[in-house]
Amino acid sequence: MEEIHRDSDTAGNEAGGEDALVGNVSKLAVSPPGYTGAPRKGHLIFDACFESGNLGRVDYINEFEFDLFIRPDTCNPRFRVWFNFSVENVRETQRVIFNIVNFSKTKSLYRDGMSPVVKSTSRPKWQRLPAKNVYYYRCPDHRRNYVMSFAFCFDREDDVYQFAYCYPYTYSRLQHYLDSLDRRNLDYLKREQLGLSVQQRRLDLLTITNPILLSPEREKKVVFLTARVHPGESPASFICQGFIDFLVSEHPVAQILRDHVVFKVVPMLNPDGVYLGNYRCSLMGFDLNRHWQEPSPWAHPTLHAVKQLIVQMNQDPKVSLEFYIDVHAHSTMMNGFMYGNVFEEEERVHRQAVFPRLLCHNAPDFSFSSTSFNKDVVKAGTGRRFLGGLLDDTSYCYTLEVSFYSYMTAGSATPMPYTEETYMKLGRNVARTFLEYYRLNNLLDDNKPGSHINSLNVLPSGRHGNNNSNGRNQDGERKIHGVKGDC
Ligand SMILES: [Zn+2]
Repeated sequence: MEEIHRDSDTAGNEAGGEDALVGNVSKLAVSPPGYTGAPRKGHLIFDACFESGNLGRVDYINEFEFDLFIRPDTCNPRFRVWFNFSVENVRETQRVIFNIVNFSKTKSLYRDGMSPVVKSTSRPKWQRLPAKNVYYYRCPDHRRNYVMSFAFCFDREDDVYQFAYCYPYTYSRLQHYLDSLDRRNLDYLKREQLGLSVQQRRLDLLTITNPILLSPEREKKVVFLTARVHPGESPASFICQGFIDFLVSEHPVAQILRDHVVFKVVPMLNPDGVYLGNYRCSLMGFDLNRHWQEPSPWAHPTLHAVKQLIVQMNQDPKVSLEFYIDVHAHSTMMNGFMYGNVFEEEERVHRQAVFPRLLCHNAPDFSFSSTSFNKDVVKAGTGRRFLGGLLDDTSYCYTLEVSFYSYMTAGSATPMPYTEETYMKLGRNVARTFLEYYRLNNLLDDNKPGSHINSLNVLPSGRHGNNNSNGRNQDGERKIHGVKGDC
């Protein structure tokens, strides 16, 4: 998410005694107190020493119940949300209750039916636990902190089980995906290393376009998309992959887009944070989405590199940077939606609403009425705000948010939990929406004459429609706790 934690939404810093939680548990066998010797079957072994792993401590309560502590972000104990750990040495039919006791946030989609995801060695596809097995409540035993408890029954002795806050998408997974794209030798896809993170991980940049467009004398329309500045927001990576998959595909819409637009994608802005299993920060504890104004080449090298590239493109008279979209995930809202900037001129406000409106038509899970435009001081260091100030009035900068949990479609009363596939689908829908956008603007050769951008006002206003000009919720669509963001 984009926004900053406010005090009312932040549990006390002492919660969970995280001073002691500096590393992940490593093959930690939790046996009953007083027990000595090798762990028996059923003495659970917890581990989070793997990529994107996070579990800082386990307290044995009784044979059936364990208190689990999230390891805070490296160098920033304020953030404790993402968890991702494995459990093995289980007994068949062993029932347990795991209490996650030190979340740094109080508002949560757990109140609305969200549940952790689980997989096991013999069932490697992630699934959400049944919501009925999950409880979220204020707990007197934990300084009245909010605790998420879930019941689980192990069923296969030889399986290793893994539990996580949401579907993980690791740095290595991204590298494998990008390697597989490389192997296709597509002439319209270029992969570069734009820089390195503090821990020397790759900062990848993809350029997807018809290579003819890249010749120096050509005018270029550029769409720039970034993801994973906040490392715990793994849904952003699925969206980003869906976006890339569509654009490199043989789909006719993708081919037209490549012939007219240069797509630049930075799929992982914070590779160290992702690798380490942080929720919001980089290795050094920085929320990179607050440092766009003055990124340091040594403290925020990935951000610095991306900003340099954008500034350089902005100075190139042949380049028109038309869209910047930064993808996030949201821990209290449902659906996909956007944040945009506010402007004085009504015409510009109007133009900025066009893309989200079109996306609302194309994506059943995208909500225009949850989309909002703001200029909060606390968000001045975000990519959207900073670039909105840097780029001229023909550029549009958005944060694309997607719920960690679910979406509601028109006419349905029950939330549909997102899957890895539906997150990717949203990414594909974002990509194909650019065709409609550019058609509407008479910018594509194959465009039929007619509709100017302002004619959008007469379009039916989508599944989540009925919006006023600032895009705030007017149709009574369900908003979680009536708040916009806490990220
Ligand atoms: Zn975020």
